[in-house]
Amino acid sequence: MKLFDVYPLNDITIVKAEGAKVWDDKGNEYLDLYGGHAVISIGHTHPHYVQRLETQLHQVGFYSNSIKIPVQQQLAEKLGVVSGKKDYQLFLCNSGAEANENALKLASFHTGRKKIVAFSKSFHGRTSLAVAATDNPAIVAPVNQTDNVVFLPFNDVTALHGYFSEHGKQVAAVIVEGIQGVGGIREASIDFLQAIRSLCNDYGAVYIADSVQCGYGRTGIFYSHDYSGTEADIYSMAKGMGNGFPIGAISIAPQLQPKFGMLGTTFGGNHLACAAALAVLEVMEKDDLMANAAEVGNYLIEQLKGFTGITEVRGRGLMIGIELPAELSEVKKNLLFKHRIFTGEAKPNVIRLLPALNITKAHADRFLEALAAELKSVPVSA
Ligand code: PLP
Repeated sequence: MKLFDVYPLNDITIVKAEGAKVWDDKGNEYLDLYGGHAVISIGHTHPHYVQRLETQLHQVGFYSNSIKIPVQQQLAEKLGVVSGKKDYQLFLCNSGAEANENALKLASFHTGRKKIVAFSKSFHGRTSLAVAATDNPAIVAPVNQTDNVVFLPFNDVTALHGYFSEHGKQVAAVIVEGIQGVGGIREASIDFLQAIRSLCNDYGAVYIADSVQCGYGRTGIFYSHDYSGTEADIYSMAKGMGNGFPIGAISIAPQLQPKFGMLGTTFGGNHLACAAALAVLEVMEKDDLMANAAEVGNYLIEQLKGFTGITEVRGRGLMIGIELPAELSEVKKNLLFKHRIFTGEAKPNVIRLLPALNITKAHADRFLEALAAELKSVPVSA
């Protein structure tokens, strides 16, 4: 059987990985500044992570959700502490799309309403029903078309007020990324997030902070939405949560009360996924990785702002977008094949950096030197 063609593939086979480095089957070493779309949060094959997963595997790998699973409780407690939301409740699932589906479902149960407000260029996962909430024509199947999702312009407070004054009483939820990832690393403004919070309060709608890509400490605080001084009703998360082990979740504010049967999942919260997620949080806490993400991220952003040839540098911490002019469309490819550095992209020509939160300034310098060579820009040391 052939694999269904899903992604354009680079002809590289990775056979070994450690920290921020990976090696191919020919022995070439690469610097990984992408981590499979922000997934590798504490570095590849981190010893504590490997050991915790191995230990768990020798005990119980999987058992049904109808019994108590102590490692779930440990994860909930640790996440409450590290994220600073001890009074929230945790629902565990397997991916970002699933986390957002459940967030929207919960909002709809809570309000008894159907309408979802999302924003242009947002991406919330490849779901198949009304909860798709993305306006990218390349990935919206006909089955996604629904009257229940409205896309308003991102960061437009006036449009938001206008919509709520007409339809606010029908809105179940507003879903927004703190920093749009797929949409090109664009940060929601403080005013915009504050307007979402206050309109949701006024009209009884649920504020869902999609933290799947921008969350989990990547920007220097746990949830990047919280830079606005607001608290969301639901935070969805996935990518960095398991350092490569599939796991997703929503963190739910105390005013949203569960009822049996509202939410459910077969694999969500299985022992191995919880052990992986716990290991991530333990390393983040012990090694103060949010502070490192802020420090190395600020360093990268400041240095990049001094480069000539870049259209714009956007982002926060270790979620960085480098927009290049259209004629520099080969830079990402050259970074990979000439300089052996993995990066990501967003359309039209944005290089996306989403590395592990424990990369060092030396890793950052290796990237800056390679980029300077490609842009024929000022060397980093100048
Ligand atoms: N939400 C955001 C902001 C994302 O960036 C993504 C994936 O890129 C998702 C949701 C969907 O996550 P998953 O691919 O795990 O379903």
